[in-house]
Amino acid sequence: MTPTTGTTVHTIPRLEIRNLKRRFGDRMVVDDVSLSIMPGQVTCLLGPSGCGKSTTLRMIAGVDTQDAGEIYVDGNLICDTVFRVPPERRQIGLMFQDFALFPHMSVADNVAFGLKGPKVEKRARVETLLERVGLGWTIDVFPHQLSGGEQQRVALARALAPRPRIMLMDEPFSGLDNRLRDGIRDETLSVLKQEDTAVLLVTHEPDEAMRMADEIALMRDGRIVQQGAPYNIYNAPVDLEAVAFFSDIN
Ligand code: ADP
Ligand code: MG
Repeated sequence: MTPTTGTTVHTIPRLEIRNLKRRFGDRMVVDDVSLSIMPGQVTCLLGPSGCGKSTTLRMIAGVDTQDAGEIYVDGNLICDTVFRVPPERRQIGLMFQDFALFPHMSVADNVAFGLKGPKVEKRARVETLLERVGLGWTIDVFPHQLSGGEQQRVALARALAPRPRIMLMDEPFSGLDNRLRDGIRDETLSVLKQEDTAVLLVTHEPDEAMRMADEIALMRDGRIVQQGAPYNIYNAPVDLEAVAFFSDIN
């Protein structure tokens, strides 16, 4: 089946990583990881703490260097062990648990921070994104006037403002109150889908992956041990360890 988003048919993955490896000392922390993600698709890299998820993300972002393997964006090589496109030219958006808005800037200025071009255009983009995250009214307020969940949504708008081709999200919801989390996950998903970016979401929580992913890549000790649609992974776990990992889902 060819994935589609809106009316566009995509045949080349937005992001493809092939046989990525990263060693720290004599430990292989990322061991031959391959993945591909289409535009508009959300893939969750799911696995217990310490299995190598963040290291994988850092190599894709370009803030860490792999020992082996290649990274392609829209079919073009952006990084192997010889050639490297620098992080700021990869058109990759990042979101982490500690999303830290600039406290001395208004919400509008925070969202516009990475934008170039005419003022009117930047303002229009900021307004569109704040509307999409349900925060049109916050344009002139400052971050400290917002709740944690609202700040998170501003951070999402800021990350999406420059129209990144890929969004990398590393446990972005884990700092949030349980009651807020489901709502924000759903909103985030709907905004990401409208923007047609490819999303790699890192989480150690099976229920988050089940809720958000089009595809789950289950990671353990640096390797991807199972990959597929959430429903399939949940119903046919690869081994007993995977069964145990999914068993605390509610
Ligand atoms: P995860 O995000 O899945 O929790 P990480 O990718 O952060 O896991 O880390 C995987 C393993 O690599 C951990 O054991 C961690 O301690 C180790 N590690 C991560 N970064 C470094 C580093 N810069 N130097 C040495 N060890 C590291
Ligand atoms: Mg991590």
